[in-house]
Amino acid sequence: MLIGVPREIKNHEYRVGMTPSSVREAVIHGHKVIIETSAGAGIGCSDADYQAAGATIVDTAAEIFANAEMVVKVKEPQKVEYEQLRPGQLLFTYLHLAPDPEQTKGLIKSGVTAIAYETVTDRNGGLPLLAPMSEVAGRMAPQVGAAALQKANGGRGMLLGGVPGVSPAKVVVIGGGVVGTNAARIAVGMGADVTILDKNIKRLTYLDDVFGPRIKTQYATIDDTESLVYDADMVVGAVLIPGAAAPKLIRREQLSKMKPGSVIVDVAIDQGGCFETSKATTHADPIYIVDDVVHYCVANMPGAVARTSTFALNNATLPFMLALADKGWKNACQDDVHLAAGLNVHDGKITYEAVARELGYDY
Ligand code: NAD
Repeated sequence: MLIGVPREIKNHEYRVGMTPSSVREAVIHGHKVIIETSAGAGIGCSDADYQAAGATIVDTAAEIFANAEMVVKVKEPQKVEYEQLRPGQLLFTYLHLAPDPEQTKGLIKSGVTAIAYETVTDRNGGLPLLAPMSEVAGRMAPQVGAAALQKANGGRGMLLGGVPGVSPAKVVVIGGGVVGTNAARIAVGMGADVTILDKNIKRLTYLDDVFGPRIKTQYATIDDTESLVYDADMVVGAVLIPGAAAPKLIRREQLSKMKPGSVIVDVAIDQGGCFETSKATTHADPIYIVDDVVHYCVANMPGAVARTSTFALNNATLPFMLALADKGWKNACQDDVHLAAGLNVHDGKITYEAVARELGYDY
């Protein structure tokens, strides 16, 4: 199969659909890979790295969209991209169609077959192509929160781990899923005093097994969530109710009960955030202050560490990408119900029920 990888064109997107090692695996499987010049520049991979892996470098994205049988990307296609997609072509990337009627219309019109990373499933009911980005965002949360706690950024002027004779900062993680677990892991590593809240007892049991006495777990009643948040130096918002907006766990009027200079890292901001005062920010201007509480609410945290994120994403996408290239999408999806769950658009129709329902298409 001829696989094509264009350079990402969304604002401040530095990731790339395939790393040189993914290219090498595809080539070993007998496929040909064309990649737009400089596509890997943002992650420190040069054209020469891709050529060494067996790719052919092309000058323009247009050559990729015109020729590739499968286009592999990271972000959803932008207008200029989906206008070049065509029937019989396969697109493998993040799509997030439900909140994006324009892109959905564009994909339907193009006739492309589109498999979305975010709806591919695994046998445990997880989302294996979303999980790596949650791991990245979770691990970044204490790092960005620690910077926000510094005085110059409006924080309390506290070191996360304290020093001998001075207590560490209290970090409260709301939601002990992928983001929360990874946030806790880094916060513990930085020496913070960490408590994880969740509504799922099984998850709390797992976290207790994994971390032992290095963290505290707490069932997320309204009472306990409030009192832990009021006493925290840093709160990481990491809840998810699949398919729904994040629940607002702390209201505007409750914010003033938090300590002045405390920090909220609302990772769940891409689902609306779990604090009423959260609003999405960017890497260029990531924090703002409400009622003396510093808010960090960047909606695409993994973008800041594009290199790590690209490699993590490729580790997860590679087996699916190879299956699609080796067998063709029809056979690959027949053989693997989890990959089939990724099929969102085919032959001018929405093939994913939740997207069809949300945007009012037949299913
Ligand atoms: P997950 O499903 O693995 O974990 C969510 C956890 O929240 C679950 O354990 C669930 O039981 C718990 N939960 C649900 N309601 C709760 C409540 N009221 N109180 C306490 N716990 C509750 O999800 P995840 O992969 O960890 O993702 C968490 C959030 O982070 C999602 O909104 C996701 O979209 C977001 N995210 C954001 C970025 C970013 O760059 N900002 C990156 C990756 C993920």
